[in-house]
Amino acid sequence: MFSNLQDKLDRAFKVLKGQGNITEINVAETMKEIRKALLDADVNYKTAKSFTDEVRTKALGQNVLSSVSPGQLLTKIMNDELTELMGGSVTELEITKSPTIILIAGLNGAGKTTFSGKLANFLRENKGKKPLLVAGDVYRPAAIDQLEVLGKQVDVPVYVDRNSEDPIAIAVAGVAHAKQNGNNVVIIDTAGRLAIDEALMTEITAVKQATQPHEILFVVDSMTGQDAVNTAKAFNDRLDFTGVVLTKLDGDTRGGAALSIKSVVNKPIKFIGTGEKMEALDVFHPDRMASRILGMGDVVSLVERAQQQFDEKQAAELQKKIRKNKFDFNDFKSQIGQIKKMGNMKDLMGMIPGVGKAIKDIEIEDDAFKPIEAIIDSMTPYERENPDVIDPKRRLRIAKGSGTNIDEVNKLMKQFGDMRKVMKQMSNPGMMAKMMRNMP
Ligand code: GDP
Repeated sequence: MFSNLQDKLDRAFKVLKGQGNITEINVAETMKEIRKALLDADVNYKTAKSFTDEVRTKALGQNVLSSVSPGQLLTKIMNDELTELMGGSVTELEITKSPTIILIAGLNGAGKTTFSGKLANFLRENKGKKPLLVAGDVYRPAAIDQLEVLGKQVDVPVYVDRNSEDPIAIAVAGVAHAKQNGNNVVIIDTAGRLAIDEALMTEITAVKQATQPHEILFVVDSMTGQDAVNTAKAFNDRLDFTGVVLTKLDGDTRGGAALSIKSVVNKPIKFIGTGEKMEALDVFHPDRMASRILGMGDVVSLVERAQQQFDEKQAAELQKKIRKNKFDFNDFKSQIGQIKKMGNMKDLMGMIPGVGKAIKDIEIEDDAFKPIEAIIDSMTPYERENPDVIDPKRRLRIAKGSGTNIDEVNKLMKQFGDMRKVMKQMSNPGMMAKMMRNMP
């Protein structure tokens, strides 16, 4: 996602790297690069300009604390401003009414039908709702078939009337059907066009009038860049929608739509589509997206996953052991077990700041821990608790027992030793501050 923009922003930040202070001159140069990066990502010109002006003012107005470098400070300001640009915080769907009526609008191929299925799935699985899908795209019989297939897939009923060519009547009948059958959310998929035209706008406005939806979600393909923003504006002028759904963010999109839409139409992005599968839907978090764009990784999501595995008592004990330099192979193995429970290795590593970019083309095996676990299993309990006693003779025995070889055992012993050293240093607060200062 947005790897091009990431690379360019990285280069812009390099201007400040190694500089002791933020000055008019180095900020001006950095801002020029940032603006260029945004324009290349297809961000609206006005948005890019006002954005960099804002960042510049903020950067010059701040004192650089001795504990952070100018590059770090700018990253923080950029992160805050990008978050703001994309809407600040999460805007939840308004789904308290029963039934809640949600109208889905957009051009052909934007991903409306796919999103309707994903949303039905999301509301059923995550919000405990009983949705009904309504097939309102009367011009394309294939669209009705597609919605029926998706409905089956996500186990949500679909209201269809193949004899009618009146989308307004179908929408109204769909809502009535939901009320009769105890469905508390109605998702109405509507017909699109290849481009904005008057007939489409009149029709969708009439559907809105007739059904009085609580949410109108405008679905747009993020790959279309500035066009996405222009289409959003045209739809919003007529429909006054309540939120945007950006699809196809899994593709090679440059990111312009995600960054400009909020500032142009002043409506929040509520969801993003990240694949063709029904599960490939995410609630849009402006702050997390900003971190991803800046290559800071999605630490929050990583932490959320870690928290699900986190055991406070165990962590406190571990800390104590680390401080006393008593971290042993039993602890190491239980740490590996916890990491494994958090999910797919490559996904996890991609969330770590700076790592995502570095590993994007590298295959990472999920069973990379297997030999390590086998080696630890072949140690005696005494050896696991006292790693220092593991001499060459013992290493040879462990290698044989684990079906690995002496090189692998030596490598693990070395890594373990290094890790212990780093852990010891990290538990020393003064050292931590020093390390932070040296980070880019
Ligand atoms: P509609 O005409 O607006 O109803 O669009 P569709 O829902 O039929 O989607 C058009 C195409 O885009 C289909 O091939 C979908 O599988 C695909 N599509 C929709 N959303 C996404 C997404 O988030 N990522 C990817 N990669 N493809 C998507």
